[in-house]
Amino acid sequence: MKLCRFNGNRIGVVRNTSVHDVTPVLQELPALRYPFPFGDQFIANLDMLRPKMEALADRAPGLPLGQVQLFSPVANPSKIIGTPANYHAHVAETHRDPANFFAGRDKSVREQGLFLKATSSLVGTGEGVAVRFPDRRTDHEIELGVIIGRKTGFVPPADALGVVAGYAIALDMVMRGKEDRSLRKSLESYAVLGPWMVTADEIPDPGSLSFTLHLNGELRQSANTRDMIVDVREQISWASSLYTLYPGDIIMSGTCDGVGPVKPGDVMSLSFDAIGKAEVGVHAAE
Ligand code: MN
Repeated sequence: MKLCRFNGNRIGVVRNTSVHDVTPVLQELPALRYPFPFGDQFIANLDMLRPKMEALADRAPGLPLGQVQLFSPVANPSKIIGTPANYHAHVAETHRDPANFFAGRDKSVREQGLFLKATSSLVGTGEGVAVRFPDRRTDHEIELGVIIGRKTGFVPPADALGVVAGYAIALDMVMRGKEDRSLRKSLESYAVLGPWMVTADEIPDPGSLSFTLHLNGELRQSANTRDMIVDVREQISWASSLYTLYPGDIIMSGTCDGVGPVKPGDVMSLSFDAIGKAEVGVHAAE
């Protein structure tokens, strides 16, 4: 099942090239009172909502995907976790260009550890990336986005895929420079997720997905998730040993080689096996 959030806060089921509006399903969510629990309540209740959404989608007319604005399929993650240096070819390109890459680039992914991006940086593919400091270099990093489905701690790798709600294409945008990574990767709109979430039952093996990023029509990044140094199972297990994971938490699982700068006016075209395609515009922050 492909689920999107569109035109603000509407929920849609994506079938072929159409969006079927199933927003009334949100009335099924439990009424919550302050203090609200961590995590995303739509993702937390997905199993209960799925049959209702299938039924609503059967009756809802299809809106052409090209006529809706897509927002992040997760509205309220409690955290966005990043995995650095997770493809050998990307590690090699950072070594060739020490002026532009993180000072810890000589360390392995396990030595560097996971990092966090601010949840307020999250946008959908239809919102685009707003470059905030045009005199600084902002780079694209296409990654597999893993969306956690249930509260999890200390999950062993063998069981880790069982806690996944679904997958989406992620852009871990970054401003290059000397500041701490969390500053440079948490600017407003520097975490892109979309165009929709594909539920985990449709992707039994996230370790064999090819993906590409074209910038203004030119191929820049191309790889397969089988090339990860730390695979998705191990990343979830590792993250859950550090943090309690909540429904809707996002893991951006690392980028491949070919990262490079974007500027206002550019268009990034994303493609990911089993998920789909999306275009993400770049504009100047206002
Ligand atoms: Mn990254």
